[in-house]
Amino acid sequence: MASIVRCRLESEPDVPGGQILAELLESIGRLPGEELRIRKMTCDAIVSAYLTQSAQPPSRHVATERKRIKKFSTMEALIDRIQSSKKILAIVGAGASTSAGLPDFRSQGGLYDQIKADYGEQFDDPRLLFDAAQFKLDPGPFFRVAHRLLQPPGNKPPGPTPCHRFLARMEEMDKLLRCYTQNVDGLEVKAGMTRVVHCHGTLSTSTCTSCSSTFPTQVQGPDTIPKCPTNDGGILKPDIVFFGQDLPMDYKKNVERDVRDADLVMIFGSSLKVYPVASLVTRFPPRVPIVLINREVVGRPNEFDIEMLGDCDTIVQELERLLDWDDDDDDEEEVDQRPKTRAIEAIQYDYLPPNRYLFPNVSIDPEERRRRLAEGSPGPESNKRSRGTHSETPSNGD
Ligand SMILES: [Zn+2]
Repeated sequence: MASIVRCRLESEPDVPGGQILAELLESIGRLPGEELRIRKMTCDAIVSAYLTQSAQPPSRHVATERKRIKKFSTMEALIDRIQSSKKILAIVGAGASTSAGLPDFRSQGGLYDQIKADYGEQFDDPRLLFDAAQFKLDPGPFFRVAHRLLQPPGNKPPGPTPCHRFLARMEEMDKLLRCYTQNVDGLEVKAGMTRVVHCHGTLSTSTCTSCSSTFPTQVQGPDTIPKCPTNDGGILKPDIVFFGQDLPMDYKKNVERDVRDADLVMIFGSSLKVYPVASLVTRFPPRVPIVLINREVVGRPNEFDIEMLGDCDTIVQELERLLDWDDDDDDEEEVDQRPKTRAIEAIQYDYLPPNRYLFPNVSIDPEERRRRLAEGSPGPESNKRSRGTHSETPSNGD
C-alpha cells in the first residue's frame, strides 16, 4: 500500500518557481501553507518538479491583483450595464444552490463538516473523499456522500433556485456569454440553461471506470456502488472532477475566448477559493466590471467593482425588480417556495459607499456592520439613505 505522508508546502512567490508551486497547489484545490496528506510518491514528485522549475527563470505570467473600476460602483450602473450587455459571464458557486437544500462544501456545518462528523478518523481531511487515488482504494464513502447530494434528506430531488432562474433568464434574453459553475448539482441545466461550463464536472452523468461509456447517473441507495450495465466489472463514477484530475474539456475550450469577450462578470455565491475560478477573476481586461454577489467579501486581495452581500436569491430578486423583468414564468413542476409577491416587493438593504450593498443575511458580525456603516458614511443619518427602493430607477406600473 502506498505510504501517506503529512506535509506543508509553502510557496515563495518572489523566488523563481515559487509562483509555479502556488499554481500547482491551486490546481489540486489546495492553498500554499495548508497541511496535506498525500502519497509519498506524489510528495516527492511535487518537490522534484519544484526544484527543477526553481532552477529556471519563471516562464509563466504572474497574476496581478485586480483593482476596482471607480466609475462603476453603484447598483444603477449595474442595472444599466445588464440592460445593455450581450456578453455577461457568470461565475457560480455553492451559494447559488444552498436554498435548494444542497450543502455548501466549505461553510460551517457544510458538506466537509458532515464528512468529518461521519468519517472523522478515516478522513480527517474531508477532501480525501474526492481524491482519485482514494476513490480507487475504496469508493464506498464517496457514493454515500454523493447520494446525499443527489437525494438530500426530505427525499425530494433538488430543483433550480431563483438564482438559477435569473441566470436562465439572462440566457433566454441573449445576454449571457457563458455560465462557469463550480457546482456539480446540474441545477443550471435543470433551469433550462445550455451555455454552461461545469468547471468541476457534473453529478448528472457517470462514466464507467472500465469501458468509459457514459450513462445518466441513477439515484441508488447510499450503500450501493453502481456498476456498469455491461458487467465488465467497471464502476459508474459520476463525472465530477476529482482532486488530481484534469479540468473538463469545455472549460479549456472556452475560457481563453470568453475572458477576452465578456462585457460584464457576475459572481454568484462563490468563495473563490478553489481552482480554476480562484484565478479566473484576475484574467479579465481591467475595463470589464466584476460584480460580487455573495454572503461575504471574498477574493481578496482582488477588488470587485460592486459588492452585493447577502443571499443570492434575495439579491437577484431585487435586481429583477429594478430591471423590471416581470415574473411571467409560470413554474409548472418547479414549486417556488417564495411568496408569489416576490417580483413586486422591494428588498431592504444598506448602501455602504463607495461600492458595497448589505442585504439581509449578510455574513458580517453585527458590531462590525455598525462600525463599517459609521465609517463608510458621513453621519448616522445617512445610514439609511439608500435603504429600500432606488427611486431614481424607472419603475413600471407599481
Ligand atoms: Zn463499462
